[in-house]
Amino acid sequence: MQFSEIQGQEKAIHILQCAIQNSHIAHAYLFTGPEGVGKKQTALALAQYLNCTSPDLQTFVSCGRCPSCIQSISGSHPDLLILEPDGNSIKIEQIRTLLSKVSLRSYENTYKVVLINDAHLMTEQAANCLLKTLEEPTDNTVFLLITSQVQNLPVTILSRCQQISFNLLSPSMIQDILQKLHPERQSQIGLVTALAKGSVSTAENLLANEEIAEARQDFYNLLIRLAQSSPAQIISWCEQWDKNKKMVKALLELGQLWYHDALMINTAGQIQLLVNQDYLAPLKSQKITPQHLLQILQYFQTGMAQLESNASPRLVLEITLLKTQTALTA
Ligand SMILES: [Zn+2]
Repeated sequence: MQFSEIQGQEKAIHILQCAIQNSHIAHAYLFTGPEGVGKKQTALALAQYLNCTSPDLQTFVSCGRCPSCIQSISGSHPDLLILEPDGNSIKIEQIRTLLSKVSLRSYENTYKVVLINDAHLMTEQAANCLLKTLEEPTDNTVFLLITSQVQNLPVTILSRCQQISFNLLSPSMIQDILQKLHPERQSQIGLVTALAKGSVSTAENLLANEEIAEARQDFYNLLIRLAQSSPAQIISWCEQWDKNKKMVKALLELGQLWYHDALMINTAGQIQLLVNQDYLAPLKSQKITPQHLLQILQYFQTGMAQLESNASPRLVLEITLLKTQTALTA
């Protein structure tokens, strides 16, 4: 992994590169920020660069050919230790095993890089055990703690690490990344980007999730004929999502995108900006006034807030769709 392969995190990478340039690499870094924005990739790029035997010092590119780079690329570098949670937590035994490996001399006499993913999942004992090592840093060892929930880490750990924050990615950046990774899914990329809210991993999960793709199709078929549907039909359609908060949330987001697209067609005629490119014809045939569309979008917004405050998912969906149907037939 190279720094140049990571998109949208120039600030975080710049801080690390300055530290490399000035030979001021901290003993412990804490990479914080949302899921799926490049924290782990940055950690891997740093590890590879630090142990590359002929890096380009001007551009911070590791050579990719030396034995160390080859081991880094294949994920088998003996001086790169990666710790992932075991189930829902990182346990003290895991930290002990890890630290026993850290205390061994590095194989190549260069950097030992210790990557702890989802560091907020350390148990209290695990965190205390790690803390002792962080308090007595060894030369040429770098701890890279990664977390998306910095608020759940003990202050003692925070105080021992230099924190580097990673930000959400812009929609255009996510679109670029997805287009490179999944050119064959072109028609869905706009939609997935809109739902992903700045996280590449969320976008990839959505692309891989057939259940959401099916539910979307089914839901949009309902929205297309919503004005002609009876309240009983709407209620019966919602039954299948009883207690399924995750899916109801996705449906409410999809509904917002649907009516937002309808509003775009209705007001600006900006077809190239539509999220649901694959539903262009049915969207165009939705004859709804902008005033009603704004009202409907408000209903979905309210539904989303109610869902967040733990209202029954099915009830929220029913009420949102029934209110929408009333607005459509008003
Ligand atoms: Zn190299």
